[in-house]
This record gives sequence, C-alpha cells and structure tokens, in this order.
Amino acid sequence: MSESGRKVVIGIGLLLATGALIGWSYGHVERGLLIAALLILVWMLRSLIIFERSIHSGEFNAFQYGDGIWQQMASRFRYERDRGDRYKSQRLQLLKEIRRSTRAMPDGAIILDEQLEIITCNRAAKTLVGLKPKKDRGQRVDNIIRDPALTELLRADDPTMTVDIESPMQDSAWLNCRLVPYGAGQKLLIIRDVTERIRLNKMRRDFVANASHELRSPLTVICGYLDSLAGDAAVPEDLRQPILQMQAQAQRMSIIVADLMQLSRVESSGRAGDEEHVDVTAVLTAAARAYAGLESSPDIQVEGDASIRILGITREIESVVANLISNAVRHTPKSGHLKLCWRKAENGAELIVSDDGEGIAEEHIPRLTERFFRVDRGRSREGGGIGLGLAIVKHILQRHDARLEISSTPGQGSEFRCCFPAARISAAT
Ligand code: ADP
Repeated sequence: MSESGRKVVIGIGLLLATGALIGWSYGHVERGLLIAALLILVWMLRSLIIFERSIHSGEFNAFQYGDGIWQQMASRFRYERDRGDRYKSQRLQLLKEIRRSTRAMPDGAIILDEQLEIITCNRAAKTLVGLKPKKDRGQRVDNIIRDPALTELLRADDPTMTVDIESPMQDSAWLNCRLVPYGAGQKLLIIRDVTERIRLNKMRRDFVANASHELRSPLTVICGYLDSLAGDAAVPEDLRQPILQMQAQAQRMSIIVADLMQLSRVESSGRAGDEEHVDVTAVLTAAARAYAGLESSPDIQVEGDASIRILGITREIESVVANLISNAVRHTPKSGHLKLCWRKAENGAELIVSDDGEGIAEEHIPRLTERFFRVDRGRSREGGGIGLGLAIVKHILQRHDARLEISSTPGQGSEFRCCFPAARISAAT
C-alpha cells in the first residue's frame, strides 16, 4: 500500500476509534461508531464530488497542496493530462512535417488505412491521378484508380512488387505504383511518372524490331548466294575456305536476326493469343530426337507426364524447350547427361531442363535472363549464342503466366525450371 493509502486507513481507524470512545462514554458504543462512519462517508463523498468536478473543469485548485490520497490522485491526473497534451502536439508536429516533406516529393504518395481506403495524399498524387482528398477520403483507392494491375498490386500486398498502369489523367502517360507498409497497419501507395522510361523502351523495341526485319531480306539473299557458291564445283580452291566461313557467319547472323525478331514479338505483345492445349511431352520428345543423332550431343532422357497439357501457344512452348536444350547441350560435355521433365507440381505443373555440365557461378544467375547477357562472351561468340535465348524464354513464360527458376552449381550442372500455374494446366483428352 502507498504512504497516502496507509494514512487514509489510519485516519479512518482513528475516527472510528474516537467515535466508539465517545459513544462508550455515553453508554452507546454502536451509535458512536455509526456517527463516525457517517462522518467519514460524507467527507469521502464531498471529496469525490469535488474531484469529479475538477476532472470536468480541468481545475484542481481544491487538491493543490498536501499529500493526502485525493491530492495524489489529482497530481497523477494532472501529470497524465499534460503528458497526453504533449504527445498530441508532438503528433501534430510530426504530421505537419510529413505533409511538408511529401508536398515537396515529385512522386505521388497516398496514405491508405487497413481497408485500403484513402486517408490523405500529397499534391503530386492529386496531379498524377486526379485525387480530390476531401471528396475521395474514405473511398477504396481502387474505386478511384480503376486498373486491373493496380487491383493485383493491392491484393498481392508485396512491397517489392511494382506495376505500370496507364495514367487516368493523360493519354499515353504511364505511372509506376508500389505499395509499402506505413505506420500502424497503414499503407503508402507511391506513384511515379514513368512515361519517359516506357517511351524509350518502346522506341528501343521498335528500333530492334524494324532493324531486324529490314536485315532479314538482304541476309536471305546473301545466304542464298553463299549456299550456291559453297556447292559450286567451279569455284577456285583458294576461295572455297573463305566462302565456307562467310556461309557459316551469314547463317549465324540469320539466327541472331530471327532471335531479335522473336524477342521483339514476345516482348511487345502482352498476352498470348490463339491458345491451344499443348502436349509438352510430345514437344520434349521431338526436341530430344532432333539432338539424338548429333555427334557432340550428350545423353538426353525424357520423363513426361502425357496426361497433362499447357494452355498456350505451341510455337512458343517449342521455342522455350529449344532454347533451354540448346543451352544445356552447349554447356554439357558429350559424356554428360540431360534430363527433360514435365510433371505435375504443387500449384500447377513444371517443365524442367537439367544437365550435369559446367554449371553457372552464383553471381551470374540473377542476370541470365537480361537481353545480351552472356557469362563468357569470348566463348559464346565461338559457340553461337548472343545472350537472347533466356530473355526470350522469360518473356514467353510471362505471357503464359509462368516463371523461370534457375539453380546451378559450377562444375556440377544446372537446372532450369519453368513453373506453370494451375489455371494453365489441363488434362489430356
Ligand atoms: P546464349 O544465346 O548466349 O546462350 P542465353 O540467354 O540463352 O544466351 O544464356 C545466357 C548465358 O547463360 C549463356 O551465355 C551461358 O553462359 C549461360 N547458360 C545458359 N544455360 C546454361 C547451362 N545449361 N549451363 C551453363 N550455362 C548456361
């Protein structure tokens, strides 16, 4: 018990004892005790009423001094109230600071509550997506900015995920959105104008598509002439070797141009069209058969579950398989082994191409699907690759809602796993 509590108990005890003593001197102890108890009750009630009034008025003058229990309670109450005021003004100050700093930000910032309803936003958000803070407060943000990609971002609730959406305010403008946790249970939707990046990307894609398209016709002519020259017995012996070299290089250029055209196509068109139920086991078997007779090819084993199909474009699935197998063959010695597998997985199905070849160092793995990335540029030049194969694979898989997982250990081999979602899988009829 606290000191003041002890004093109250002693005071009450003394008053009761005094009442009992006076009552005893008059021959009525009980009456004396009762009167003392009533006096104590009246005193306590009075103090309680004054305290209750003080709480409402905020004035504690009646309990200013002394160390009684009421003074103690009043001083505690005053302390908590002042602390609350201080905390409130600190919060207000902080809120002002946040408003001031977000106002200076070129990116839009929208603060959302747990239900993804708008609490407030900065000036840039008003300009970028046309928010009206007073009118739109309390509305779900995807009711104001209607875009399937944004809905997906809100549903995923992944701070590393970003989506590009078309600006609701301006034609041909693009916005990049990211959702990050903010405060207690709140979310911050950051919106950035990426029109310039998207425009440059489109220009690059268009340039590559046009240039490779324009190169295709002259290359076909050059290849045609070189093919006939290579087979012409009348060509002088000293020209035969240079012609064969030119023919090999022209064929390599044709492959590069074809790869560039395919990459442009799968990069620029969003979703796969003309879909059918692709028999992946048949695709794997045909691809393995094409390598079976080759001198430098390692042993290739196929394990396919013919009961499942992918809903997709046969030509593109064939391209994924061809790219993965040609890489594996190129990076595995003749004495090595390749395994092509198509099977059900936990949430869909997976197509795996694995080898026990040279493998890839860990630091290169995150960059493998970048355009023109090659681990060993010198060797690739001799071997034919220009670093487009895995970029094509990645884009085709994206068009089929699938993803590529790569694992590898130098000296032991690599595994390329294409994971297809359940929505893309169907049973063979
Ligand atoms: P490329 O046309 O040069 O093969 P890719 O995009 O297909 O380009 O592959 C990128 C790089 O990844 C290659 O240069 C190669 O070094 C590496 N790579 C791909 N597949 C394998 C594999 N199965 N084993 C070892 N390295 C591989």
